[in-house]
Amino acid sequence: MRILIADDSATCRMILAGSLKKYGYDVVETSDGLQAWVELSKPGAPQIAILDWIMPKLDGVELIRKVREAKTERPPYIIMLTGKSETKDIIAGLDAGANDYLIKPFDPNELRARIQVGKRMVELQDALFKTNEQLNYQATHDPLTGLYNRRAILEILDHQFFHMGIGDSVLCAGICDIDHFKNINDTYGHQTGDDVLCKLSRILEQITGKSDSIGRIGGEEFLIITTASSEEEMSARFERYRTQIAETRLMTRSGALSISVSIGVASSIEKNSVDELLAAADAALYDAKNLGRNRVITRT
Ligand SMILES: [Mg+2]
Repeated sequence: MRILIADDSATCRMILAGSLKKYGYDVVETSDGLQAWVELSKPGAPQIAILDWIMPKLDGVELIRKVREAKTERPPYIIMLTGKSETKDIIAGLDAGANDYLIKPFDPNELRARIQVGKRMVELQDALFKTNEQLNYQATHDPLTGLYNRRAILEILDHQFFHMGIGDSVLCAGICDIDHFKNINDTYGHQTGDDVLCKLSRILEQITGKSDSIGRIGGEEFLIITTASSEEEMSARFERYRTQIAETRLMTRSGALSISVSIGVASSIEKNSVDELLAAADAALYDAKNLGRNRVITRT
């Protein structure tokens, strides 16, 4: 684990760094508050910081306030180590956001024990952060295909719809539905059906551009969100999805299967709400199915 030291006294830094290295920590040394701020702002910054109070450029208390205002996902555990020993100083340091307060000259064993407390806090915080990330992933992704789930993709559409600026490209929603998917399940079983959904998802991901988003909104129904500068571009984009899917043999546990999809596309032009946009895409999909499937129908 890395520990940041900020102290303007070279002697203090040397003694402190010596102790920390002896206890097996990697040390990042800085001699003023600004340097320390730069180090703490870097990605992968040390998660424990030992800060002096009186330092040039930015003092310890100002630095702590800055760090706490930054509200990062993994805030550092901060120990103030200072010659200021009055109760009012300790209170001010802790009030500013320090996790702990030690008075110089320090007892090396006490410092080691207090850093150990900090280390436990950091590890707990890391575990909590990872759990949160996992929960967030599970709440927004479809467990089978790994694509966004219905709620997440609709939230993305909602967000993009309401944040479109004047003169921006047009927002497009395409609902992509596998043709005769029931036949695949009936003929080969649901596990093969699941294979088809997963393989199709990978094809969709390969085609999609960086700014596009894809989610699974129903059993065999996917929503593709993209932007285009013209109706031609919009049709061409979704036509590419359709042909790529029709031309690819999907490897499943029942062997290689070919499928086709019907796609209903609508743009945000003259739509007052996401519901209107989705209703238009749905109507276009209905037309695509009725006109014989394996086709893209666009409604602007
Ligand atoms: Mg000092």
